[in-house]
Amino acid sequence: MSESAMSCPKCQGEMVQGYVLDFTPIGLSVSQWNAGSPKRAGLNSILDSTSQIPIGTFRCRSCGFLESYAREEFAAK
Ligand SMILES: [Zn+2]
Repeated sequence: MSESAMSCPKCQGEMVQGYVLDFTPIGLSVSQWNAGSPKRAGLNSILDSTSQIPIGTFRCRSCGFLESYAREEFAAK
């Protein structure tokens, strides 16, 4: 997935790779795509997830449109 090959579907502007952060009990992490529907685990709003894929989000430099992809290559390195 090359960011130079991507253009905004709304305005044809340049799309720049980024990611969305989640707050966790131990700090920040990259948001994950989860298969199926969400299920609560315990009293908190913590969700029980078995299949997670990190989300990469591209942003248009011109209009700010966001487009997300769930792929292993977007995991924190
Ligand atoms: Zn745009």
